[in-house]
Amino acid sequence: MMPLTQLVLASHNAGKLKELQAMLGDAVQVRSVAEFSSEEPHESGLTFIENAILKARHAARVSGLPALADDSGLAVDFLGGAPGIYSARYADGQGDAANNAKLLEALRDVPDDRRGAQFVCALALLQHAEDPLPILCEGLWHGSILHEPRGEQGFGYDPLFWVPERNCSSAELPAIEKNRLSHRARAMAVLKQRLGLA
Ligand code: IMP
Repeated sequence: MMPLTQLVLASHNAGKLKELQAMLGDAVQVRSVAEFSSEEPHESGLTFIENAILKARHAARVSGLPALADDSGLAVDFLGGAPGIYSARYADGQGDAANNAKLLEALRDVPDDRRGAQFVCALALLQHAEDPLPILCEGLWHGSILHEPRGEQGFGYDPLFWVPERNCSSAELPAIEKNRLSHRARAMAVLKQRLGLA
């Protein structure tokens, strides 16, 4: 692989860009796909990995640079991995509170020992839009789904996600600690190793 000095992140989220730049360090300059295009590709894949590849390929195509994309969500064992790639729009685009209410309803009366779940983060890095051999990394964060929301930090499903190694929900963890334990942190650590930056 060619040494990586610049890459484009397939995200319009400035917070994600900052987080990634901090994790990769100064050796790699991270730019946003928003500099090159306002268009967002249709996420037509059926897996996190497929959607990460689609987003990275689009970013590589519009920028002419190596591109990295992430796709993440919550996979609940009892629901066969749902909401999965549909995590953000589980309750038809009505937002986090509606998503959480729908999940609690789907797991109503399900006992504790069958409420296992994982947050998933898939990363795809393509050297260019036609790269046939992308670098693919996954990070999983295992936990379980609570019976009611707890905590005020974080976003999305954090108030319902019980973190067994800390005995609290992920919405009760300070951001700095969540960012050490999370699915995204784990996937990024694998990526850094694959790039020889760890
Ligand atoms: P995205 O890939 O960052 O857009 O995340 C997709 C969706 O998965 C979010 O809208 C959340 O519903 C859920 N999700 C992903 N990561 C987290 C997390 O760290 N905490 C809570 N929810 C998350």
